[in-house]
Amino acid sequence: MTPTITPIRPQSSPDTDHTRDARALLDELDLDLDEVNREFATHLDPARMIQWLADTVLAAGESLDRIIVASAMANTALLDVVSKVLPGVEVLFIDTGYHFEETLETARLAGRRYNISLKVTPAPPIGDRQYLTDSDGCCNLRKVVPLEEALQGRVAWISGVRRSDSASRASTPFVHRDRRGLLKLNPITHWSDAELAEYVAANDVVLNPLLSQGYPSIGCWPCTRRVAAGEDARSGRWSGQEKTECGLHL
Ligand code: SF4
Repeated sequence: MTPTITPIRPQSSPDTDHTRDARALLDELDLDLDEVNREFATHLDPARMIQWLADTVLAAGESLDRIIVASAMANTALLDVVSKVLPGVEVLFIDTGYHFEETLETARLAGRRYNISLKVTPAPPIGDRQYLTDSDGCCNLRKVVPLEEALQGRVAWISGVRRSDSASRASTPFVHRDRRGLLKLNPITHWSDAELAEYVAANDVVLNPLLSQGYPSIGCWPCTRRVAAGEDARSGRWSGQEKTECGLHL
């Protein structure tokens, strides 16, 4: 299948009427997300969680194109799962301008392999080396702002965050309302590394080759180093800084 790769154009404001509409729609549904999380914890079935999200968006009177999936193009197991439940779903890959070539190639392979509509944000100009002096500002410019723009007009988004990624992600719920009021689904958050590896092997999932070269967590090349055996998977991210998250999943 020929991949659909569409650049996303920046929009004007991070808080438009569309976002307020989505919040109002979800407020009207009066979802009991504690109960939903309990139900998800009983079945632990990512496909069922994604189907629930689709049904919820449809129940709000909206179309499924108001759902988008965020991917960092490391392990693409989430894309394999989602594309089977929601064929043609939009997938967001934020091009920071500082990705490893292996990550860009993984995005290209995923776009060809899965039944998804891959949206790639335009990379901001590089060269200012802001990551050396202001990594929060750099992540905001290159990751958080593009995400905010891509979430305009959405009702829900899906991420591959897992509780085992790091201590700060250990209590990630299956579903919650994010800081914008949108629904955020984390359908594989309960997967251990072993469960993820099992799914990858069984489904021949597209993998970023850096994963097998000492990079269990992959970000931009200036802020990602190899980790030693036994180190926390995300310890290679912003190594030497207190920073542990870029801001996408806060
Ligand atoms: S991870 Fe590093 S290079 Fe990438 S956006 Fe953040 S600070 Fe900039």
